[in-house]
Amino acid sequence: KLYNMVQDLKGNIRVFCRIRPAFCAGTRNAIDFIGEDGSLVILDPLKPQKDGRKVFQFNRVFGPSATQDDVFKDTQPLIRSVMDGYNVCIFAYGQTGSGKTYTMSGPSGGSTEDLGINYLALNDLFEISNQRKDIISYEIQVQMVEIYNEQIRDLLSENSSSTKLEIHSCPRDNGLSLPDATMHTVKSASDVLNLMKFGEVNRVVCSTALNNRSSRSHSILTVHVHGKDASGNMLRSCLHLVDLAGSERVDKSEVTGDRLKEAQYINKSLSCLGDVITALAQKNTHTPYRNSKLTLLLQDSLGGHAKTLMFAHVSPEGDSFGETISTLKFAQRVS
Ligand code: ADP
Ligand code: MG
Repeated sequence: KLYNMVQDLKGNIRVFCRIRPAFCAGTRNAIDFIGEDGSLVILDPLKPQKDGRKVFQFNRVFGPSATQDDVFKDTQPLIRSVMDGYNVCIFAYGQTGSGKTYTMSGPSGGSTEDLGINYLALNDLFEISNQRKDIISYEIQVQMVEIYNEQIRDLLSENSSSTKLEIHSCPRDNGLSLPDATMHTVKSASDVLNLMKFGEVNRVVCSTALNNRSSRSHSILTVHVHGKDASGNMLRSCLHLVDLAGSERVDKSEVTGDRLKEAQYINKSLSCLGDVITALAQKNTHTPYRNSKLTLLLQDSLGGHAKTLMFAHVSPEGDSFGETISTLKFAQRVS
C-alpha cells in the first residue's frame, strides 16, 4: 500500500548516542571504547581502570569524528516515514555544551555549513514530495514553540512574549495540539531555515557557567505533513524536532531564585519525558503524559504507531564524567 512503504521491524523507540569532539586536546578523556554495534565504554578519570569502567548499549553510537551526514544517514528512514503517515519525534538530550543544538540545527554562530537534522530532514521531505508529485500532492507546514518554565511560547509570532499557548489535547481543530501557534506553509528547506532563524532570536537564552548561550528552554520545531492522492485519500502526520533544555543538575547551593526555579522546571519535565518513554518501551497500561507540558504536547506523537528517536549527547571530557553517566543512564532507561 502506498502509505505503508516503509517496513519497520525494529520497534518504535530508538536511542542513538553522540559524542562531540573534545574542545582542547590533551584533556583527560572519558570515552574508552565505541563499538560498531552501539556499545559504549566510558572510564571514570578518577578511578583505576577496572572499577571506573561502565558499559552502555544503544542502537548506535556516533563518535567525535561522525559528520552531520553520517548522523543523518541513520536518521533518514525514520524521517522519511513521516511522508508515509507516521508521526515521529526526535529529541536531543544532554548537558549544556554537549552538542544538542549542533545535531539539530548546526554549528553555533549561524554557519550555513554542517547544517543539522532540522534542515536535512526538511530538505529530504521536499525531495520526496517532489518525487511523488504525480501520485500524492503534499503540503508542508511548520510551527515552532518553546517551553520555558512550563509555559509555551510561540517562537514564530512577532510578539511572542505576550501570548501563552494552551495545549488542546482533544482532537479538534484538525487534530492540532497547538491551534493558536503561528503556522507557516513552507515550500523549500530554505524557507524553513529562515523561520528557524527568526524563532531562534525569540528563544530564551541566558548564561550558565558552562555555556554563555545556554538554552534553558525546550525548543520544538513541528512539521505538519498533509498528503492527498488522486482518489482523494488523505494522509496527515507530523514530525517533532526537539532541542531539549540542558539536563545538567544544578548545585542548589549555587543558584537561587529564578535560576533555581528554571532548573526545577527543567528537571521535572525531563524526568517526565523519561517516564513516558520508559512506560511506552515497557508497554505499560498507563502512560503519564499529563505530568508535563512537553509530554502532553507531544502525546499524539509518542506511543501508538508513532516513532521516537532520542539522541543522547555527551561531552568527551573527563570532568564531565558525572553528567555523562547521568545522560547515559537516562538514555539506557528509555531504550
Ligand atoms: P548544546 O546545544 O548541547 O548546549 P552545542 O550544540 O551548542 O551544545 O555545542 C557546544 C559547542 O560545541 C558549539 O560550539 C558547537 O558548535 C560545538 N559542537 C557540538 N557538537 C559538535 C560536533 N559534533 N562537531 C563539531 N563541533 C561541535
Ligand atoms: Mg543548545
